[in-house]
Amino acid sequence: MPFADIIGHEREIEVLKRGILNNRVPHAFIFAGPSGVGKRTTAVAFAKALNCNRLSGDFCDECPDCLAIDNSLFVDVFLIEPKEPEYKGGAVDHVSGTIREEDITYIQQRLGYSSDKGNKKVSIIDGADKMNRFAQNKLLKTLEEPPLNSVIILISAHYTSLIPTVLSRCRRINFRPVRKDIISQYISDRLNISSGDADIIASLSSGSIGTALGMDREWTLNGRKQLIERFERLSIKNGDDILRFAEEVSKEEDIGDALEFLKIWYRDIALYLKGMGDMVINLDMLPFIKKHAQVFSFEKVFTGFTAIIEAQKDIAPPRYANKQLTMDNLFMKLLSQSQK
Ligand SMILES: [Zn+2]
Repeated sequence: MPFADIIGHEREIEVLKRGILNNRVPHAFIFAGPSGVGKRTTAVAFAKALNCNRLSGDFCDECPDCLAIDNSLFVDVFLIEPKEPEYKGGAVDHVSGTIREEDITYIQQRLGYSSDKGNKKVSIIDGADKMNRFAQNKLLKTLEEPPLNSVIILISAHYTSLIPTVLSRCRRINFRPVRKDIISQYISDRLNISSGDADIIASLSSGSIGTALGMDREWTLNGRKQLIERFERLSIKNGDDILRFAEEVSKEEDIGDALEFLKIWYRDIALYLKGMGDMVINLDMLPFIKKHAQVFSFEKVFTGFTAIIEAQKDIAPPRYANKQLTMDNLFMKLLSQSQK
């Protein structure tokens, strides 16, 4: 998997490649951007490109060095993260998920060994914003006097929580969510599914190829549609039906998805009412959306939308409201609004 196989971050990768080819790789980076968009994939790829013994400015993914990096067997490339369960380097706090001072000591020791093979030593800190203040101050010393031939890559979805002195010593590369059309094209080819289905999955992927590939397709495509259709068949005059539906939805493991589907359904109708039909996610239900848009006012749809968000918060920590009760109340509210 050379750089060209990383989808949607061509500009960012170009910067990294140029650094290698011009022999001007900064000592420290921060890969910033939302979770799941490919920061860690790119960081590991970059570590390979810095050490691949076949290619320059890219990596082959076949040579012993590339394969060793993939399998965490390459002694000069190492990754720490706050949630690693079996980590032996003293680098992990299982309880609070923080990266502590001793974790940075560990990194400093590993970066301090001189590599007998002349490798580039790469330390990746995923979830860098989980470093506590002591850890950050400790890291700062390494950033101020970086060991020879070493690169530190901080990965963070919340990089502004890092102290400014750390930030100022890192070259920031911003990763944005991958564009919907790019994800759609990619998964349509890769999974051999219709472009319509791929569009829906891409819309629900939050700009992450990994999320798009990992989705339960049957549930996302058919389960979503059936759920919305069943909800729409409910009548405010039949409280028993509503209660039964609430009971079923709250029993499901995927209650989070169910609420998300419903929220996106309301969002779609609201967008359509505002003349933004091209942003609709439930593309396979467009005729249904149009029909709704003729009957509903934007205000009503928006009130429904916010009620769904409120219900999502209610059943989540720290509120942990009773799921069935919350669903029943929500459905009653939504239906009484739309069916008066
Ligand atoms: Zn290689």
